[in-house]
Amino acid sequence: MRKPVIAGNWKLYNSTAEAVKLIDELIPLVSDTALTEIVVAPAFTALSAVKKALADSGIQLAAQDCFWEEEGAYTGEVSPMMLTDVGCSHVLIGHSERRQFFGETDKTVNKKLKAAIAGRLTVIFCIGETLAERESGNTFAVLRRQIAEALTGFSETESDRLIIAYEPVWAIGTGKTASEGQAQETHAFIRQLLSELYSPDMASRIRILYGGSVKADNIGGLMSQPDIDGALVGGASLKAESFAAIVRFAEFQE
Ligand code: PEP
Repeated sequence: MRKPVIAGNWKLYNSTAEAVKLIDELIPLVSDTALTEIVVAPAFTALSAVKKALADSGIQLAAQDCFWEEEGAYTGEVSPMMLTDVGCSHVLIGHSERRQFFGETDKTVNKKLKAAIAGRLTVIFCIGETLAERESGNTFAVLRRQIAEALTGFSETESDRLIIAYEPVWAIGTGKTASEGQAQETHAFIRQLLSELYSPDMASRIRILYGGSVKADNIGGLMSQPDIDGALVGGASLKAESFAAIVRFAEFQE
């Protein structure tokens, strides 16, 4: 009932030429997969060229962030309207690296999320606890706060424009993955929370992705969990073969 999504976050990697080469290599490897939505998130500078390279492949384009104003004196920022203008359908909001290194807060995530949705983008809204928060037993409290604050003013009628990515900070780029049980328990908590905040129907429709050192050899176990609907992939999305293997394995599990 929930179509799986595999999204690749390329972070601060790839020149325009490298990004186009990666797409040219990826397309033939995933062209016969139809049951999974595929999204790639290059750096801003490569969005236009990647959009052209994606052509009619069905692979969707995301940006890694956006600002909440449409235009104005905000040097260095990019608006939702500018992202749709270059062909983006999706945008990541609230990635833990933005929270950690660029002062992103639940309040700024809330503003960005609402602006992106109003700008007709689908938001991949990232949440997750740090190792200290998990070890002190605060995982659920942190996720509750992140979701409640970032979704303030968000309406259930916009649910088809929202995807949640649960990414434990301690698992991002570390080679450590949450166990299938840990991930499932947390995804089930998030879905239950959405059910309380909105409705059981909304909660049952929202896709919740797992992120944190996802690879071809752990995607199968993760996707076999009832509340995991796909993955947000960092490192392993930078090579066509490893990203395609994740897409194919996810599709095979469905
Ligand atoms: C990410 O950047 O969202 C991510 C999950 O990275 P990695 O797969 O490298 O842990």
